Amino acid sequence: MLATTLLALLLSASANAILDRRTAIGDCLTAGSVPQVLPGSSAYNLAIKPFNLRIPFTPAAVVQPKTVDQVQAAVACGAKLGIPVSPKGGGHSYASHGLGGEDGHLMVDMKYFTSVKVDSSTQIAAIGTGARLGNIAQSLYSQGQRAFSHGTCPGVGVAGHVVGGGYGYISHTHGLALDNLVEATVVLANSTVVTASTTSNPDLFWAIRGAGASFGIITEYKFQTFAAPMGNTVFSYTINPSSASQAASIHKALQDYANSTSMPTEMNMRLFVSPGSFNLEGVYYGSQSAFKSAVQPLLTKLGISYGQVQTMDWIAGLSNYAYMSLSTPIDYDVHETFFSKSLMTVSITDAGFTAFWNYWQSTARGVNRDWYLIIDLHGGPTSAISKVADNATSYAHRNALLKYEFYDRVDSGSYPSNGFSFLNGWVNSMQNAMPTTNFGMYINYADTSLTMAQAHSQYWLGHYPMLAQIKKAYDPKQVFSNPQAITST
Ligand SMILES: Cc1cc2nc3c(=O)[nH]c(=O)nc-3n(C[C@H](O)[C@H](O)[C@H](O)COP(=O)(O)OP(=O)(O)OC[C@H]3O[C@@H](n4cnc5c(N)ncnc54)[C@H](O)[C@@H]3O)c2cc1C
Repeated sequence: MLATTLLALLLSASANAILDRRTAIGDCLTAGSVPQVLPGSSAYNLAIKPFNLRIPFTPAAVVQPKTVDQVQAAVACGAKLGIPVSPKGGGHSYASHGLGGEDGHLMVDMKYFTSVKVDSSTQIAAIGTGARLGNIAQSLYSQGQRAFSHGTCPGVGVAGHVVGGGYGYISHTHGLALDNLVEATVVLANSTVVTASTTSNPDLFWAIRGAGASFGIITEYKFQTFAAPMGNTVFSYTINPSSASQAASIHKALQDYANSTSMPTEMNMRLFVSPGSFNLEGVYYGSQSAFKSAVQPLLTKLGISYGQVQTMDWIAGLSNYAYMSLSTPIDYDVHETFFSKSLMTVSITDAGFTAFWNYWQSTARGVNRDWYLIIDLHGGPTSAISKVADNATSYAHRNALLKYEFYDRVDSGSYPSNGFSFLNGWVNSMQNAMPTTNFGMYINYADTSLTMAQAHSQYWLGHYPMLAQIKKAYDPKQVFSNPQAITST
């Protein structure tokens, strides 16, 4: 009886503390004239609905600023009251990090920062961090047929995409999205606004290109654009391996191809594996005849004789792999329910290939959900990503030949509690076969099964200690945090 009464008192004290915090942050935001959206409204429900419906969180407050001053005022309130602050861009973090990755954050939804403007003399594009990739691509194209390197999904927010890397169908040719970045405007933990570039706060600029979610709220990016390539070759070949050893030899052939000078810089390629098929697909930035002579040795090795090869301009190529319209509304409302993992591999041994594809044969093929695995030919001697020095940015995977996204989703209902072992087991199969290798992982495919220490070591590898030092200088009180963010230790 006494225990029950005590528990009830404790629960009510903690509920009161939460209410007090909500009132305090609400008052502070009101005093700073920061536009809030309040629980109960449809705007609030949409703002906090994560892309990954598996992991919802309840923020302490949600604001939707329209000016940099309002972003500064919001950060000042969070810092003053000890409430962690999390910017949300497109809301596509696999771990719902835009919501903070846990309850109780002040969420700063940047949805109104959508401006895209190309300077016609420098061809540098200034882009607001609430903009989404599909709208940006179209706007850049309409301003003199310009483009920059980025990923495929039109709904992904430029903000989170760039701070973690930003890989897409032109990255082998033009690098990651963050390699195209020349400047960012950042609201820091002390609520001041600074410019980050190679000449202004270069340490911050280094940190935000790979780990930017931990260092401030970026309000604007500036990218050096390039002329959108036209007359591109878009290709797709289906392969049907009948055994684990055949699948392993395809995988090895792709690793060898990425690691050779036979893969032209203009070639962008991935293997898409789903329960039903293997598809080798991508874009070559050149003519069909140049593509065919560049790809033929690989096709011969893989025993592929037939595929689809088409010529498309830049926008048609983006649409081809978008699987939806490039135009997205400001109140974008698309969601999935899933668990995802990643790997970045430098050199897989024969034992690694064998274990990985034995797992596919014994386990993955029997999983009756809508899963897929994408293996991108990411780095290597001809890749623009690997040509950037390892220590030039905090992105830590310059030497990874292949990049993997494992994605297991359900079409309706909740993700099964016994589902996690499937992808964890697949990644472990390679890890166990190569026990002395510390495999990298990609923060843009944030994996909720990693502890903070594992996330630090696998997302940022040897760059973590430098990131922790820079965090100490710019955000010693961890105003910007989430369960996998950089800390100052
Ligand atoms: C359908 C889909 C397709 C994808 N395709 C690709 C792809 O082709 N290539 C690829 O590389 N990735 C891809 N991704 C992954 C994507 O790049 C990441 O999920 C990315 O983090 C999403 O950014 P966001 O702004 O939409 O997400 P959010 O959840 O809003 O933010 C992600 C992280 O960035 C931080 N952040 C947001 N805004 C700011 C800001 N203004 N300043 C500082 N930090 C900020 C957040 O706090 C959070 O930690 C895809 C994801 C999905 C869901």
